[in-house]
Amino acid sequence: MAQEKRLEDRVALVTGASRGIGAAVARRFAREGAHLVLTARTTGGLEEVDDEIREISGEAATLVPLDLTDFDAIDRLGASIFERFKRLDVLVGNAGQLGTLSPLGHIEPKTWDRVLAVNATANWRLIRSMDPLLKASDAGRAVFVTSTAGQEPRAYWGIYAVSKAALEMTALTYAAEVENTNVRVNLINPGPTRTAMRAEAFPGEDPETLKTPDDITDLFVELAEAKCTRNGELLQP
Ligand code: NDP
Repeated sequence: MAQEKRLEDRVALVTGASRGIGAAVARRFAREGAHLVLTARTTGGLEEVDDEIREISGEAATLVPLDLTDFDAIDRLGASIFERFKRLDVLVGNAGQLGTLSPLGHIEPKTWDRVLAVNATANWRLIRSMDPLLKASDAGRAVFVTSTAGQEPRAYWGIYAVSKAALEMTALTYAAEVENTNVRVNLINPGPTRTAMRAEAFPGEDPETLKTPDDITDLFVELAEAKCTRNGELLQP
């Protein structure tokens, strides 16, 4: 018997979908029947994921190459999703950057600003642009990807940790604000996962010892489903 598709016909936007966790979430959502809008800067990476998605579902994703620090581009993305679908059922704010692992006093101001922009401010701008579209859905779902670094101060992880803490408070504030609507908002801390970012942070580590992005997609589906009742939670796969 064919398995039930848990995101049949849901319109889902995934940021950071050119590789790593975002690409795995996009593939899994395609398997669950979602229509996908995928963003990242690297067009080639998005196209590779799109090829995989066509294999899975027979349907092309909508690819929107953009730099999330171009905040006006986020507003334009909201306008084009409205034009095409009139609603957004699922927002996955996954894109992120590690920045530099170094003492606070040694971080370049431009690195501080960029990491804060990608990891925190861009997600606020996504909320700002997508909130009316999520509310136009019968069950809008937002999921943001954070890290243990956002909760536990660790030497040299300053800008990444600060940006994730800001993301968490942004998401939890949004969750409180939508409590009485059809929208539900949660955070996922994926834990150590075999991606380019993890290898950048821990170059000496054997990647084979880590779970893969495809291993952790169940929780994303659970929080994206219309039947999800969780709100304002920070969960680990
Ligand atoms: P990757 O580096 O593999 O992927 C990051 C994604 O973000 C890429 O698709 C990248 O696309 C995109 N991205 C980065 N900067 C920008 C930008 N300026 N504009 C648009 N897109 C951007 O990392 P992961 O898959 O590991 O990370 C995904 C999320 O998971 C991040 O938020 C990370 O902090 C979090 N996380 C990861 C953990 C792990 O162990 N891997 C542990 C805890 C949290 P492109 O370069 O094409 O723009």
